[in-house]
Amino acid sequence: MNILVVNCGSSSIKYQLFCMEKHISLLSGIAEKIGSSESFIIHHKGDKLHKVKIALNDYFSGIEKIAQLLMHPAWGVIKDKSQIHAIGHRVVHGGEEFRSSVLIDKYVMKRIKFYSKLAPLHNPPAYNGIKATKKLFSDTKQVAVFDTAFHQTMPEEAFLYGLPYKLYKKYCIRRYGFHGTSHRYVAQAAAKELKKPLEKLKLITCHLGNGCSIAAIKHGRSVDTSMGFTPLEGLVMGTRCGDIDPALVGYIMEKEKLNIEQVNALMNRKSGLLGISGISNDMRDLLTCAKAGNKRARLAIDIFIYKVKKYIGSYIAAMNGADAIILTAGIGENVSVIKARLLRELSNVIGEKIKMLTIHTEEERLIALDTFKLIQNKK
Ligand code: ADP
Repeated sequence: MNILVVNCGSSSIKYQLFCMEKHISLLSGIAEKIGSSESFIIHHKGDKLHKVKIALNDYFSGIEKIAQLLMHPAWGVIKDKSQIHAIGHRVVHGGEEFRSSVLIDKYVMKRIKFYSKLAPLHNPPAYNGIKATKKLFSDTKQVAVFDTAFHQTMPEEAFLYGLPYKLYKKYCIRRYGFHGTSHRYVAQAAAKELKKPLEKLKLITCHLGNGCSIAAIKHGRSVDTSMGFTPLEGLVMGTRCGDIDPALVGYIMEKEKLNIEQVNALMNRKSGLLGISGISNDMRDLLTCAKAGNKRARLAIDIFIYKVKKYIGSYIAAMNGADAIILTAGIGENVSVIKARLLRELSNVIGEKIKMLTIHTEEERLIALDTFKLIQNKK
């Protein structure tokens, strides 16, 4: 059985085709700059890469071209559309309603659109991508896998802010958390590696990529996570500021004469590693510059690690202990100095009992697995 995983961003479509019997990824790629004249697709088959420059006006033309590549005599692996047995979509926001992955029907479509109010940048591309995919693959079952779903097990004490309770009721203002598929995937993988059932473990999973979040996972359930109502809360990230004094928003607006849109852009796109260093949002650049003696690059790295350390400490407190800390995503998987520093600086807290593991995250694989399970159940 072949399952196609689709992840639509504001101007991109990431895709990956899995063969479920063999547990392997057959093809993957990304269509970028959709809607502009410079759009292109980078398609991978094994270790070979194929770049196609092609005008992609919208998600439908993107999906159509991707489907052609999947069936291409040289670059594809399937003969016709019927060899894609189901399609799994990454959707960022499922509100409080979607606590796990679901088969997409008319109602689910409506709700994905509805939750655009909570994720105005992320849900509309997913919605449009699903619509385009449904048009092209009208007979194929499709599944939505939500980034927020895994964190729906958080208790009220973790998901509510210290704001008037009526705002929660009126506008759904609460903490949702994101990267749920990644946290869930690495937690499962960690349990395998530790040879213990997930239900018996207390884990702290650190997704450190361009966006960063940490989750406290007690007995397989997310009980807290660092991102909140939006992905802006929590750690210092590539370009996001993470936690700040909320009074600063008004203060910066006044001092810098910014409107809401501009201050949001400042906090989301000009802050974090980029804002502190003034150099780059990319950890690789900062590591190189810090090595060469650049103080601001070093400072950005120090602030980044300090924040990770504080969250880990607070989640050990939240769960009254932990069995393992898992590092994942671009920075978590590759920057060994971070692991070394955390091990050193937390040595008294970690002791002999808490292991620190590095695990490669594969959100797409989990989306394919969820899709596979859901369509099996329907048979
Ligand atoms: P995204 O959140 O966009 O999926 P990634 O998980 O790819 O991002 O992580 C991007 C971050 O990981 C960047 O800061 C990048 O510098 C860092 N990164 C990726 N590979 C390496 C590496 N080999 N060494 C150091 N940092 C890396």
